[in-house]
Amino acid sequence: MKYISTRGQSPALGFSDAVATGLAPDGGLYLPETLPDLSREWPKWGALDYPALCFEFMRRFATDIPAEVLRGIVAKSYTTFDHAGIAPLVRLDERTYVLELFHGPTLAFKDFALQLLGNLYGHQCAVRGQTINVLGATSGDTGAAAIHALLGQPGTAIFILYPDGRVSPLQERQMACTGAANVYALAIDGSFDSAQAALKEIFGDQDFRTRHRLSAVNSINLARVLAQCVYYLYAWLRLPESARALAEFVVPTGNFGNVLAGWLLRRMGVPIRSFKVATNQNDILYRLFTTGEYRVADVRPSLAPSMDIQVASNFERFLYYNLGCDTARVRAVMADFKRTGEYRFENFDHDCFTASRCADAEIPGIIKQVHARHGYVADPHTACGFKALSADGVSVVLSTASPAKFPETLVGAIGIEPTHPRLERLKTRPIVKHRVAASPQAIADFVSQHAV
Ligand SMILES: *Cc1c(COP(=O)(O)O)cnc(C)c1O
Repeated sequence: MKYISTRGQSPALGFSDAVATGLAPDGGLYLPETLPDLSREWPKWGALDYPALCFEFMRRFATDIPAEVLRGIVAKSYTTFDHAGIAPLVRLDERTYVLELFHGPTLAFKDFALQLLGNLYGHQCAVRGQTINVLGATSGDTGAAAIHALLGQPGTAIFILYPDGRVSPLQERQMACTGAANVYALAIDGSFDSAQAALKEIFGDQDFRTRHRLSAVNSINLARVLAQCVYYLYAWLRLPESARALAEFVVPTGNFGNVLAGWLLRRMGVPIRSFKVATNQNDILYRLFTTGEYRVADVRPSLAPSMDIQVASNFERFLYYNLGCDTARVRAVMADFKRTGEYRFENFDHDCFTASRCADAEIPGIIKQVHARHGYVADPHTACGFKALSADGVSVVLSTASPAKFPETLVGAIGIEPTHPRLERLKTRPIVKHRVAASPQAIADFVSQHAV
């Protein structure tokens, strides 16, 4: 299987190279040259446990990794989860299910993809006899998930920049209390934007990048999207057969990576009826799916911070299919969008998508309502999914984070402080962080001194 860029001006790569490269050199995102048709395969997979299903799925894509090696990589990636079902499907009533995606090491759904990505990196280092230094900036969750993907991974080091004093105390602990020697939590004296700007400059220095075999951590890696297809299939196979045809997956959405994965699975022949793109007050995608207009707006910080985005970086993959896989058109639209900050779709094909938007002030009320009605405790991101559940059919709400990560909001909403042993353990460990100025030079110097 080969992987092509959505912009059509980079050479096609094998799986491992596309994963190692991340963003294609032409600025596009990698996608499989063709999607496999699984319509005759998936009905046979109902009895598989999560790692076995993930292996069956991924081996159709990771064709340059020997099958038994891949099976081991996948199995190892989900041993770090603390629920036997990995992605349990919880039934609230006959029309409402929750797919819990927060049983990984950082208690949020990004672990599904990043645990696998970390082990793929580790495998690649071993096979090629090379080291990788991963560098990224975070305003919260992604950094923690990336750190937990690489901690203790031989041949790798990870440097995560975050704005000092501007991530939650728990988020900081998830990054700075791992005790792992290959993890560097860099507390930047400045805002998230200044960290991001410094990072961009460092990655722009081709020499530096090559010398340290720098790799970016971001939501656009091909392996992340593919790994996320698996839990949709796993949930689908666990729905009662009578519910399948009626089921809509409700996806708390930021960068469009999560919902894109479900939609790709549908293109591979799993007959999922529809997806609901559930946004918070940062609603660029809600506006797109209700009006056909894609237009940037300022980000307003919310109670569901991992969905606070301005543009949805994975959207370009959807655009590629929507424009009939015509890479020249993708280039034209992206250039247009970059210039004007907006794009209007003609004949926009979004048949299988619905959308909802949740104002920040509504979040505590929804948490309270879900708790009263079902006795279920939802985190603020998941709460956005519970907004405006459709009155007919069956809803499968993806729960993207554990409520224990957001104690203040939960106490405010239902007077209960959820806890989790993983987070309690963190509170007993020392914080090890490195304060660094927000200048590209200072950050590059730090990386040079500590790179593997
Ligand atoms: C990242 C994240 C999201 C948004 O997912 P996308 O793939 O960016 O759409 C939602 N909820 C939580 C808790 C997250 O960490």
